[in-house]
Amino acid sequence: MKLILLGAPGAGKGTQAEAICEKLSIPAISTGNIIREAMRTGTDAGLKAKQYVDAGGLVPDEIVIAMLQERIRQDDCQNGYILDGFPRNTPQAQALDHMGIVIDKVIDIEVEDHVIEQRLSGRRVCQGCGASYHMLHKAPAKEGVCDRCGKDLIIRKDDAPETIQNRLRVYHEQTEPLKEYYLAAGKLVVVKGLGEMADVTQRILAALEA
Ligand code: AMP
Repeated sequence: MKLILLGAPGAGKGTQAEAICEKLSIPAISTGNIIREAMRTGTDAGLKAKQYVDAGGLVPDEIVIAMLQERIRQDDCQNGYILDGFPRNTPQAQALDHMGIVIDKVIDIEVEDHVIEQRLSGRRVCQGCGASYHMLHKAPAKEGVCDRCGKDLIIRKDDAPETIQNRLRVYHEQTEPLKEYYLAAGKLVVVKGLGEMADVTQRILAALEA
């Protein structure tokens, strides 16, 4: 099964992708995590991407599309995958179509802007494995330490308040039109993103069975 998780930054795409990939036994692919890893290891693409990520803008399509193509060529993607954070604009959605990739469903996780702002400011991510936590809703067992790999949790630079505003603006201008794109293709399912994380997971799984 090939799925796309749509939604604003902080809508819970990463958290939900991690939860449902276990249930469906397919990998969750986060272009944000791939980009951060490339930035951390200092690859050419990572160095080019950094200025856009730090400003809360979108990394140029050719860089992100190349990263995605490389990832989905790997063996663990043969039975499908969950895309978290890709596509983020119409040209990226068209690139998937041109690659001949048939997406089964697109889940839009719907959350209002003021909730997003609150969520992003409490977010912490693991600098080791990329797992995400929240000070209020999904705190790690030991403060500042990843439950999964034991590395330190950090605040992402792009979760700074002024950058959050820019990311929301970019989302509304460039990513939100994808709802229409996938609605027209008969693939869009809208799921309310408010409430307990496990309840949202259940809503997504129910939507996939429908
Ligand atoms: P995320 O972890 O999905 O919130 O992504 C973090 C940042 O990585 C975004 O704010 C963008 O700068 C960049 N990014 C992630 N995915 C994409 C994409 N599909 N297209 C362009 N930029 C992206």
